[in-house]
Amino acid sequence: MLTVEEALAKILDEVAPLGTETVALLEAQGQVLAEDIISTVNVPPLDNSAMDGFAVRWHDTLGASGDSPRVLKVIDTVMAGAVGKKTVTPGTAVRIMTGAPVPPGADAVVQFENTDDAERRAEGRSADEVSIYETASDGLNIRRAGESVAEGETVLRQGTAIRPSEIGVLASVGRREATVVRRPVVAVFSTGDELTELGRPLPEGKIYDSNLYSIASLVQRTGCFAKVLGIAEDNEQSLVEKLEQARDADLLITTGGVSMGDYDMVKDLLDRDGEMIFWKVRVKPGKPLAFGKIKGTDGRSIPHLGLPGNAVSCMVSFELFVRPALLKMMGKANVAKPTVDAILEENVKNDAGRRIYDRAFITRRNGSYYARLTGPQGSGILTSMTQANGLVLIPEENLSMSKGETVKALMLDWNEAYNI
Ligand code: AMP
Ligand code: MG
Repeated sequence: MLTVEEALAKILDEVAPLGTETVALLEAQGQVLAEDIISTVNVPPLDNSAMDGFAVRWHDTLGASGDSPRVLKVIDTVMAGAVGKKTVTPGTAVRIMTGAPVPPGADAVVQFENTDDAERRAEGRSADEVSIYETASDGLNIRRAGESVAEGETVLRQGTAIRPSEIGVLASVGRREATVVRRPVVAVFSTGDELTELGRPLPEGKIYDSNLYSIASLVQRTGCFAKVLGIAEDNEQSLVEKLEQARDADLLITTGGVSMGDYDMVKDLLDRDGEMIFWKVRVKPGKPLAFGKIKGTDGRSIPHLGLPGNAVSCMVSFELFVRPALLKMMGKANVAKPTVDAILEENVKNDAGRRIYDRAFITRRNGSYYARLTGPQGSGILTSMTQANGLVLIPEENLSMSKGETVKALMLDWNEAYNI
């Protein structure tokens, strides 16, 4: 039986980054840039003011202070977005707002707070003059043209994952679209005669199909398109029917039908239709994991991950094996889950002879991470996943681990909700 690492390596060997597409800026979040972005503009385009204040010639302010102001003649006002036409000559100043281009002749901006501007206005005195209370320096409060980005500069490199800050940078250089690695289309169907679709009454002996939904939403959260195909019954005709609808996908996920009892049917079908690469991984939950390829349209072969039917097993298998594959297909450089070292808050047994990933809630206190199991770890107890924000890894060679020992925890959710 393969180890987790061996199985993952085999899967990653069989997948590659997909082709590229050009998408509107707001659609690109989470995708990976497939081009270098070279700016065709300066950002900012012109020297502009970093403050609301007065554009001056700094020599005019030499020796100025609160006790010894310099009085300058105010010849113009420039708002953000406007361009001042008047030149600041010796003894003059231009009222200027943040972001407005610095008028010709000026070489510094004195902020309102260091002038008598507010007093003058409050007292209703003439705004044709201003008293400067500060000795400015050359370039004071001026943002230089091209200071953030110079024309011709490469602002983002191919291979960069796009987040809101990258979207902002793309917008700042005027890009409305970006060429990115395409999002995988992932076909998903569940298998099992015991499954009932949502919206129908539950006949005796049946269960609702939760895997279809947990897996499809994991696909979506990874940033891929889920092609949700529904339930296949445990017979060849029904399986073939679903398989036909998966042939235009980039990857196929099925759940169920891979454990001892009914495995042969899926295996036979896959053998005939494509290729079986492995079945079974030395891990709990998730031992009966099948990986192979089916024939796709245009002579492509489509990776197929047959996840175990148990509700927890299939979600954990997704996190361990499917998500990294999808991230690689999306062009991401790193596909490993973030992990932390966490201190066990209880004793944990490993009687499986396999590596265990137990559901846990990870917290942080005084700079250390702590892991508390979510309770019973049965592979069908899906509510244990709702109480978990991580999976703790118990190595197969450890028959037990004690409270206080350090374990690796894979973080499933790492955001504000968990205060860690
Ligand atoms: P299997 O791998 O097909 O033998 O399924 C193992 C067990 O997982 C089944 O007996 C069900 O209890 C459960 N199961 C299988 N498929 C689903 C599903 N789609 N949703 C929820 N539970 C499932
Ligand atoms: Mg089944």
